[in-house]
Amino acid sequence: MLDIASLSELLNQPRKIVITTHHKPDGDAMGSSLGLYNYLVQQGHHAIVIAPTDYPEFLWWMPGNEEVIIYTEKTETAARLIAEAEIIFCLDFNHLSRINQMGELVGESSAVKVMIDHHLEPQDFDDYRYWNINACATAQLVYSFIVEELKHPELVNADVATCLYTGIMTDSASFRLPNTTAAVHRIVANLIDAGAVNWRIHELVYSNAPENRLRFLGYCLSNKLEILREYNTALISVTKEELKKYESNTGDTEGIVNYALSITGIRLAAFIVERTDMVKLSLRSTGEFPANEICKRYFNGGGHRNAAGGQSGRSLEETIQQFKQILPEYKTLLIQ
Ligand code: 5GP
Ligand code: MN
Repeated sequence: MLDIASLSELLNQPRKIVITTHHKPDGDAMGSSLGLYNYLVQQGHHAIVIAPTDYPEFLWWMPGNEEVIIYTEKTETAARLIAEAEIIFCLDFNHLSRINQMGELVGESSAVKVMIDHHLEPQDFDDYRYWNINACATAQLVYSFIVEELKHPELVNADVATCLYTGIMTDSASFRLPNTTAAVHRIVANLIDAGAVNWRIHELVYSNAPENRLRFLGYCLSNKLEILREYNTALISVTKEELKKYESNTGDTEGIVNYALSITGIRLAAFIVERTDMVKLSLRSTGEFPANEICKRYFNGGGHRNAAGGQSGRSLEETIQQFKQILPEYKTLLIQ
């Protein structure tokens, strides 16, 4: 493991740097990555963000987005950049399986690997770790990494601030999850001072949906919501055909699970969707209920206690049945 002095020293001259983040990047994945990118380029580094897959259109407006490389679309270029990198920043994930085929390339690379993350149970693949599961977002950690570890508060410019604000806003569900502490609000205030236009960022992320996305949400809530009162659980499932019918794109299903969780008394909500190559589950829970445990034990996934995900190689119908069969085991926790 490196210490911060050696890492700072390494960053003292321009380096070839790759920043990467998890499969199907969300607001925090892209916000933290582009926040760090906009910081590093100010110091003359040759930095590039490589996303393992595409990500939703409501994140494309962020400063630096036009320079992002998507691995699945430019595999050879991405592989070359990873092989040539002197430093690889791994943001908002801590297990190489979360970056798909890129995991092997990053694992093999001789670059210094820096993990900045807030998920449980990190894998040992890094040389420097800035990790805190109490952080509400990786973007929060990138902020303190720049300001407190590298001691460059003056380099948090409007572009950096805009990206980090987006990461904190999206991962804290607009500043309302329990880990949105006073310290987080102070950071957010600093980001606004540094040039993040908070109201505009909310508009760009949350009031920027294509019509079909809202109609799809309406369809899910009217026709696909199942409430299992006995277990205080709500479930929404969607087939491939339904996704196609509503021309659903990457990110269009994001957040639907939260509507299921918003029903009074519901402690666990699931969104189960049939993708082309797998069935994907998104779980959300309230309070102490460990949604990540279900994902880890049964669906080859993980995540946070109240927001977790996983997948299944079975059919959609079988996955739904499996999910329902798990609930009796958790009944005491669910009806508390
Ligand atoms: P979402 O439901 O929004 O896809 O994911 C919620 C959280 O669950 C993510 O922040 C991530 O931490 C975790 N997560 C989602 N899918 C997976 C997965 O397949 N594997 C693991 N380990 N974590 C996941
Ligand atoms: Mn995150």
